[in-house]
Amino acid sequence: AVGEVEPKDQQVMVALRIRPLNDLELEDGATVIAHKVGDQVVVLMDPGEDPEDPLRTHQSREKTFIFDTVFDQQASQEEVYRATTQHLVEGVISGYNATVFAYGPSGAGKTHTMLGTDAEPGIYLQTLTHLFRAIEETRDSADCSVSMSYLEIYNEAIRDLLNPSSGFLDLREDARGSIQIAGITEVSTSNAQEIMQLLTKGNRQRTQEPTAANQTSSRSHAVLQVTVRQRSRATDLAGAVRLGRLFMVDLAGSERASQTQNRGVRMKEGAHINRSLLALGNCINALSEKGGSRAQYVNFRDSKLTRLLKDALGGNSRTVMIAHVSPASTHFEESRSTLLYAYRAKNI
Ligand code: ADP
Ligand code: MG
Repeated sequence: AVGEVEPKDQQVMVALRIRPLNDLELEDGATVIAHKVGDQVVVLMDPGEDPEDPLRTHQSREKTFIFDTVFDQQASQEEVYRATTQHLVEGVISGYNATVFAYGPSGAGKTHTMLGTDAEPGIYLQTLTHLFRAIEETRDSADCSVSMSYLEIYNEAIRDLLNPSSGFLDLREDARGSIQIAGITEVSTSNAQEIMQLLTKGNRQRTQEPTAANQTSSRSHAVLQVTVRQRSRATDLAGAVRLGRLFMVDLAGSERASQTQNRGVRMKEGAHINRSLLALGNCINALSEKGGSRAQYVNFRDSKLTRLLKDALGGNSRTVMIAHVSPASTHFEESRSTLLYAYRAKNI
C-alpha cells in the first residue's frame, strides 16, 4: 500500500542531518532554529530581525520540510550509516550501482558524515568494513575483488587524489557506453585501516581555498569510487563477472557565489559549483519521478559530476542524498536554501 515502501526499495532517498551548534555560533549569540520533529520532519524558524515588518506579519515564520529520514545532533555516525547506506552494500555485491551524496554549505558537516574521524569514522569506512565482511561470507560461492579510487572535480576538471601529480583526467565511454576515467589509480585492498589512511591523505590533496565566508570551505566535489567484481564459482556460470559500483560523494560547499562576495577565480568556482549542483538536483528530481506519472528525460550531460555518475544514477541504481545544515540562527539563509534544494530534489 502507499506509504509502506521500505527505504531499501526506493530508488531515491533524501535524508537531512542537523549538526550540533559550535563554539563560534555560540559566541555569536546564535540560537537554534532548525528542529527535528518526529522521524521525517524539520521545522525551520525564520529569525527575521524585524517582527513589525508588515511584509512578514502575514507570513508564517516557520517552514516545515519532509524528508525520508531526519537526523539531529544526537544521531551517531553509526545511526546515519545504518539508515542511509548500509542497505546499498548487498546490492553492490550483487552487481548493482549506487551513489551516496553529502550536500550542504561549507561547515555544515558533509566531511564529518563521509570521512569522519578515527574515533567516529564516517560512511566511507563503515561501508568498506561492512563490504569486506559481507564478501568474506560469500567466499564459498564466489570470488570477489574490491578496488577503490578517490578523485575530485574542481572547476569541471577531474584530479586523482591518490596520485595528484597525474594532472587532469578524461572521462571516456567504452564500447558498451559505460563511463570510464582514463588513467585513474585503482587501489585494491581489504584492510580498512589502510583505506582510512589513503583517504585522509587524499583529502589533504583536495583543492581548499579560503573564501570570505569560511576558512576551510571546499570548492571541489570529492568522489570515492568503490568497485566490486564478483566471479561466480558455480560451474554453469564459470567466468561470469558481475560488476557493482558504489560512489560516495562529498560535494563542494553549496553556498552561493554571491553570498561569499567572491570575485575573479572564486566567482568562477562558484559558477561551476552552482551549475553542477543544479544539474545534480535536476537529475535526482527526474529520477525520483520516473515510474510515476511524470516520467522525465534525465539529462546527465550538463556537468562533469553527472556525466561521471551516469551509470550509477540511472537504471537499477540507488541514490541517497544526505543534506546537511547548521542549526544556528546565524545560518538561516543557507539552511533555508539547503532544505529547499533537498526537498525539491525528492519532490515527496
Ligand atoms: P563541511 O565538510 O560540510 O564543510 P565539516 O564536516 O568539516 O563540514 O564540519 C565542520 C565542523 O563541524 C568540523 O569541525 C566537524 O568536526 C564538526 N561537525 C560537523 N558535523 C558534526 C556532528 N554531527 N557532530 C559533531 N561535530 C560535527
Ligand atoms: Mg568538507
